[in-house]
Parts: sequence; C-alpha cells; structure tokens
Amino acid sequence: MNLEFLSPYFIGPYGENNDVFEKILTELLRDHIYWRRNIHPEDLPAISTFASQSPDYQAAIAKTRTELHKLTANLKQSVPFFSPRYIGHMCSDLFMPGLIAQIVTTLYNPNNVSFDAATVTVNLELEVGKQFAQMFGFNTDPDQYPCAWGHLTSGGTVANYESLWNFRAAKYYPIALFETLKERELDTPESKVLPQKLQDANTWQLMNLSIDQVLQLRSETLSFWQYKYPQHFREIQDTIEQQRIEHQGMGLFYANHWKCKQPLVLVPASAHYSWEKAMKVMGFGAAQLVKLPIKSDMRLDIEALDKILANACSKNIPILACVAIMGTTEFGTIDPIHSLVALREKYRQQGLDFYIHVDAAWGGYLSSLFRDEDGSTISHAQAQSMYKYFPSDEVYQSITSVEKVDSVTIDPHKLGYLPFGAGGFIAKNRDITKLLTQKAPYVFEEDKDNEANVQFEKLGQFILEGSKPGSVAAASYVTNKVLPLNYKNFGRLIKQTIKTAEYFYDQILELKESLEDKVNICLPYTPDTNLLCIAINPVGNRSVTAMNDFGQDIYQHLKVHKDKAPKNQQFIGSNTYLLRSNISDQHAHYLCDLLGLDDQGFVQYVEDENTQSDKIFLLRHTIMNPWLTDQTNGDDYITKYCQYLEQLIDQALNAR
Ligand SMILES: *Cc1c(COP(=O)(O)O)cnc(C)c1O
Repeated sequence: MNLEFLSPYFIGPYGENNDVFEKILTELLRDHIYWRRNIHPEDLPAISTFASQSPDYQAAIAKTRTELHKLTANLKQSVPFFSPRYIGHMCSDLFMPGLIAQIVTTLYNPNNVSFDAATVTVNLELEVGKQFAQMFGFNTDPDQYPCAWGHLTSGGTVANYESLWNFRAAKYYPIALFETLKERELDTPESKVLPQKLQDANTWQLMNLSIDQVLQLRSETLSFWQYKYPQHFREIQDTIEQQRIEHQGMGLFYANHWKCKQPLVLVPASAHYSWEKAMKVMGFGAAQLVKLPIKSDMRLDIEALDKILANACSKNIPILACVAIMGTTEFGTIDPIHSLVALREKYRQQGLDFYIHVDAAWGGYLSSLFRDEDGSTISHAQAQSMYKYFPSDEVYQSITSVEKVDSVTIDPHKLGYLPFGAGGFIAKNRDITKLLTQKAPYVFEEDKDNEANVQFEKLGQFILEGSKPGSVAAASYVTNKVLPLNYKNFGRLIKQTIKTAEYFYDQILELKESLEDKVNICLPYTPDTNLLCIAINPVGNRSVTAMNDFGQDIYQHLKVHKDKAPKNQQFIGSNTYLLRSNISDQHAHYLCDLLGLDDQGFVQYVEDENTQSDKIFLLRHTIMNPWLTDQTNGDDYITKYCQYLEQLIDQALNAR
C-alpha cells in the first residue's frame, strides 16, 4: 500500500517530521509574542527587566522547571498511541495541522461560549459544524428548509446527551402549546401540520410529530397568537415556557399529565454506555432505555425493533428516539440506518413517530469515503472498486442514509486524529435551537435568517456546555481545510484504515488456517469497518470459562500495565467481551459451534463472579495508525503482530 501521501500529516513514530513541526510551531509561537507587543506598541513592559534578578523570581522559575521536568518525566509512562505497535483503543498519531492549530490557538485562549469571548473561533466552530453536516449529506443552504447546523462538544458522550436534550424539547413542545391555549382560552389557526386545529388535537397526536412538524406548528401558532393577541403575546410566551417539561420538571409535568406515558429511548445492545448515563442525566431513568437485540453480524436487529414498535403503537407508548450506531465502539459494526429510516416511515403512517439519532462517534468520518468533492455521493460500484471487501451493500446503504436522520454524533478526537476534547453534535434542522435558547426570546420574529450566524454566535445559549476551548474548533477547522471531508482528501486517510483492516483480516484468516490443529481462531462477526475482534479457543476445549482464561493469558502480554514500560511490550491491544445476555439463542449457538464450545455452558447469568461463562473474551484491534502496513523496514506491523500473536498462543498452550 502506498502511504506516501500521508507523510506530511503526522509527526511520525520516529519524529520524522520533527523539523517541520518545530519550525512551524516556533514561527507561530513567536508570531503570538509579536501580536502581544503590537496591540499597543507604545506600552512599556509590565514585568520589570530587573525582576528576573530577584532571588524570589529565580526560585519561582526553578520551581516551575522542576515541576515541569517531573511532569514530563512522568508522562514518559504514557501509552504510546502514536506507535504502530499500538492497536488498542481509538487513538493514534495526531494530525499535525490540527495539532499545531490547537497548540497555537491555546495561546490566544478563545472561549467559544460566545462571540464576545471568541471573535474568531466561534465562527470557525460553526463552520466545522457545516463541514460535518455537508459530509453527512445534510442541507446547509439557509435558503432551503431545513438547514442543518452543528457545533463541537467535549466528546461523544456530551453530544449524545445533547441529542436527547434536543429531542425532549421537541417532543413535549406541542403539549405546552396545547396547555397554553387551554389555560388562556386562545384560538388557534387552521393547521398545516395537524389535520384539525390545535385545540382539537389529542395528546397522542401531539407526541407523534416530526421535528420539522413541531417547529412548523410552533411557528404557525405563535405567528397567529402574535397577530391576534398582540397585547398579551409576552404573557402567552411566558405561559408556554411554564407549561414545558423543562420548566416543570419530570415530577410536576407527569403529575399534570398522568395519562401520558413516559417515552422510551431505543438503542441497540451494542450501544456505548454513555446512553445509559444520558438517561440518568436527563432524568428519564435508565429503565426507559430499551436495549434492542443485535444480530450475529453485530448490527441492530430490525425485525426485533419492528415488533417493539408495533407493540408501542398498539399500546400508545411514545418513543422519544431510536439510536443507530455507525461504528460500534466494541466491534466497529454499522447498524442498518436505511432500514431504520424505512421503518420509521412505516410507523409514521400508523401515527407513531420518533426521532432518529446516529451515534457516529467512531464511524462518522467514514461518510467522507462516499462524498465527492462537489458534495455528491459516489456510487457503490465506484466505492467498491477501491477496496477488497468494503463496503458491503448494507454498509454502503446505511452510511449514505445518514442524511435522513435527525442528528448525529461525531468525534474528531477519534477517527479525526485530533487531540482529546473534540466531539461534535450535528442537527438536521437548526431551528430546533429556538426551543433551547436559554433566554426567553420576548419578541417573536419569524426570522428570515440572514443574520442566523450572528444569532448562533451566542453558542452557550443553546448547547449543554458553557465555557469551552476555541482551540479545539481551530484544530478541526484547519484539519477540514487542509484535507476536506471527501474521499479524495480526508477520506484517503480513512480509506487507509479500512484497507489495512482488510489486510489484517486476511492475515488472521491465514493464521487461523495455519494454527487449526492447535487453536480455533474465530472472527465472531465479519468486520464492517476498521475494528477487528477475535476469539481464540484451544482445540478440544469445550468450556467457556477455560477459553476466557486462555484469552486472558494471551492478553496479559498485550494490555497496558501500570508498572511495565512501553518499551518492554511488543504490542498493545485491547479486549472486550461478547455478553450472552446481548445476543440471541441462535447467535450463541452459532458462536459455540464456531469455537467448539459446549453451548449448555454459555449461560445468561452467573452467580459466582469468578466464573465467566456468561461472556466470550475477545481480543479487540482498532486499526487506525497510518503506518501499520509500512514495509520500509522489513515486515509490516500487521505481519509482525500476527507472528507475535502466534508466539503468544504457543506460550499460552504450553502453560496449560
Ligand atoms: C467513543 C464513543 C462514544 C463516547 O464518546 P467520548 O468521546 O468517549 O465521550 C459514544 N458512542 C460511541 C459509538 C463511541 O464509539
């Protein structure tokens, strides 16, 4: 594989780009100092030239240096993410243009909570939101409706929280409008959204509108009230706010609406644990989170979801959202977003509507693989011609359907190769922010949003976080400018990860064959992307627990140890478990067959913590380091890893 195109973009495992890195950084550090001096060149230094001669000053600098030396000495114990010997979690070497942008911007210390505190970087952040939205295929032209927007968060977890926070605002808003008209005895207009006037709608109807419909209902109703009751419009708006669940809190709201059932949030069993946290943070309660079964390909089971929706529909149980995952954290698999969208369409016809969020914290950047420079989508055939296996029909259809969902999470600090602290939340309809604005907008404007950006610059008003680093926005912005999010630019970097994963896959299959007399190496699912998990069972062993012990023996040599220096480790990997409780009987049976295990011994629950027969141990490999297939120094790292794995397997067998 030709990796030459990647060489300008990383510091490199050997510090190959040390010179460039240092040169640019020094240039920009000096430039920052000049900037300080030139704000008011007539001002004299505030710190006296003599200050440095005082013993206290010297002691303070000495202390500073000592502590910094201690810190950096300690930091040498860090996990060497940059190294091609690291194939564990979702991080790697950093994208140099973004890294430099972040370091340099930190010197200016912009706070992206609002324009006043970040005259430059708030707009960069909004621009980044737009770049991501375009990569996903959302409309970003304000003259067309709906227009998407996005912003950065501290990570995928907060972006996921934000989706539920947005969805709650929309889901319950029509009820607040309805309560307001009852309380204040208001008339409402003919509706373009509802088949009847708002006062004649029922709760079930009001809880089953799409986001676009909610926003349209709001706009038609408020315009009418503003026109009809101009003297009372302010009070009307206050009443609406008071009727909202965000104002009343869960307790009071449900006391007032005891006939309403609590809405459910549906996620696949493979979902990241942030979803459970999100339910707790939002006060919905983890009990309202329904974990949907996954199939043997580790993707959401659409038939099972269909049954759950049919049941919800017949019992009038509202569904707040259904989450699909584009790149599961444990397996890298991709849920069938296209089928989910189709299913929503089916239930819409029956009066049940819900919002769709795609958790693409890991896989979001995969969208760049199918995006052409002009914004169009490249064909499946064209995409396929660049790979050996990728993308399967399902994966292609799924990723190209993201444009039909309501919102998306993406993590620049994962496949975006940027430093930690960078997540992103993208919403298809930016008008949803009107439901979130912290300060009540007393004058309702049916805004012809030419000034939308000015309005969005007060970012802190409608996002979960407050003060936040502008440096992260700068990093993402510069990255997306240096390598735009299409298959010819940033996509090339992502493509390399997939091709390397395919290469790894083939090598694992070879290893499986060559070791079949000794162990059974099994890929418990066919990888969708760049994450590969394998299970290893010694030939003849039928016990799940013994197999897991065997896996642990191998993993001892691959995991990060507190007291083991990185130099004493050949490779660093990660592990995960496949829980019996997350998979179907057939799936469990099939896995046991593959691995030669006794399927009676693979159980849903265990009493004793020390037996592990309720799960299957997997070695997990995240393939994202740019240099894994580099062959300039003999064997590439994938080959080296497979050889090392064989050695570990032999060792573990001998130790039995
Ligand atoms: C990593 C990840 C998250 C959480 O993101 P953080 O950036 O760690 O907060 C959520 N969902 C998925 C699918 C992830 O891979």
